Amino acid sequence: MADYLSRSIPGYAFRVVPMNYPDLDRAVKDGRFDFIFTNPEHFVLLRHQSSLAPILTVMPLAGGHPVNSFGGVIVTRSDRSDITRLEDVPGHRVAAPSRQSLGGNLMQLWELHRRGLAAPAITYLGMPHDRSVQAVLNGRADVAFVRTGVLEGMAAEGRIRLSDVKIINRQPQGDYPQGLSTALYPEWPFCSARNTPDSLVKAVTLALLSLPAGDAATRAAGIYGFSPPGDYLAVEAVMLRLRVYPGRMEAFDLRDVIGKYATGLVGALTLLLVLAAAAAVYLVVVNRASAQLLKQRDSAQAALQDSIRALEKTNRELEQFAYVASHDLREPLRTISSFATLLERSLGKDLSQDQQVYLGFLRAGAKRMNRLILDLLELSRVGRIENTVGNVDLREVLDVALQNLSVAIEESGAVITAPPALPCLTCAPHEMTSVFQNVLGNAIKYSDPSRPPRIDVRAEALHQGGWRITIEDNGIGIPPDQTERVFQIFQRLHDKNAYGGGTGIGLAVCKKIIERHNGRIWVEANPTGIGSRFIFTLGPT
Ligand code: ADP
Repeated sequence: MADYLSRSIPGYAFRVVPMNYPDLDRAVKDGRFDFIFTNPEHFVLLRHQSSLAPILTVMPLAGGHPVNSFGGVIVTRSDRSDITRLEDVPGHRVAAPSRQSLGGNLMQLWELHRRGLAAPAITYLGMPHDRSVQAVLNGRADVAFVRTGVLEGMAAEGRIRLSDVKIINRQPQGDYPQGLSTALYPEWPFCSARNTPDSLVKAVTLALLSLPAGDAATRAAGIYGFSPPGDYLAVEAVMLRLRVYPGRMEAFDLRDVIGKYATGLVGALTLLLVLAAAAAVYLVVVNRASAQLLKQRDSAQAALQDSIRALEKTNRELEQFAYVASHDLREPLRTISSFATLLERSLGKDLSQDQQVYLGFLRAGAKRMNRLILDLLELSRVGRIENTVGNVDLREVLDVALQNLSVAIEESGAVITAPPALPCLTCAPHEMTSVFQNVLGNAIKYSDPSRPPRIDVRAEALHQGGWRITIEDNGIGIPPDQTERVFQIFQRLHDKNAYGGGTGIGLAVCKKIIERHNGRIWVEANPTGIGSRFIFTLGPT
């Protein structure tokens, strides 16, 4: 061919240099050649990096017929009844010459792809295409992808029988002389390089187009000749859609992004994972710490509950002790006072005046002791004997207290005023009677001898719920610095025999009862300036 061109175009000597793909890529880039002849898929890739113009398409002889295009063949053994249609291919083992091969891989994959079928598992066996056909015949593969003419060529050389193989997805051939399974694409392009002079391009094109059929050059090359260039855009389109076109693609999706930015993505994902792991560790630590705190809180609460239970137990035991002790103390007291009386009776007139006085002290002591014990018993009984009940009429409670005090009232000439109706509420009625009786009794007891006692009882509803009871007297009053002391047990402001005597327990009992009814009791000076004013609240229950 080089000789033919050298002869046809004066002034130029043509030389053919065979090269492998990487060397050819470099040579084209460096502008070392005027014309390049390579396969269509390599041309598409080359054109992408250095401008090349396809000026001719080669016309080989296919079974003796000149053709300027070729296609792909999908082959299986003719006895494979399980593989008859394109749809059967994806589930089977496929042999093909190489990943980049247009006629021996890409055309078939494109055919499957555009019919919505998945790509099969393919083993690439390398060149020549015959190897893939052999693999199908000897059972190492179920299907082979080869270019058109391979089967006919092998049959012509007697290496296979065409009846042993069948072509899947066979296309209507028209005037194409060989069996095929895909569309047809233009044969190898003959290209001019970017800097090749136009006149030379024109001369070479003309010379090759007018190459006489049967010339020594075409015979030597094993071709029929050249035709005007075919449509290589169709090849480029297939390569774009199958994503075998490095650096360019028609559309991209997540897979392409992952493919291109794999390193960055792996880095970012690793970072995210590390951050997530750190966050998880942090959460675990925080969680543990709060679990620890919760545990501590729970055990503190449990300890508190234990202490409360222990305190309640001790309290019950103490009350029990006070009750039993005071109860049992009265027994020997009774003995003392009975024997004092017996002694007085049997000695009678033999007793001197002094001795009578001593015996009187003995009996008075025993009596006072008995009173103290009775009051202590009452104190220890508060809350132990009686439960609160609903709807107790305080007016009735007050009436019982007044009834119990009737003698004292009469003797003192006390005037007691109270509203005709008092609230009904939830309380322990006997305990509330005791409160009224103690406070009213004190108001009579601690009255000023110069005036008859006047006592006023009032009740007001509290706006936050509950009641406030006020008992005012015109008695001797309580100094402001003693108002708290009077509620303490055994605390009296006077000599033990003054104002009819007393044990100093009454107001302590009142305080205990009121507090157990969610209330409060206190004493103030009467605003009139004379006497005192006892106030207690009864909380809502
Ligand atoms: P007791 O009356 O048995 O002494 P209380 O606990 O009832 O004990 O009262 C304690 C002290 O408070 C009394 O000793 C008295 O000094 C004083 N007190 C109580 N009520 C009045 C009152 N209405 N007016 C003046 N002083 C009072």
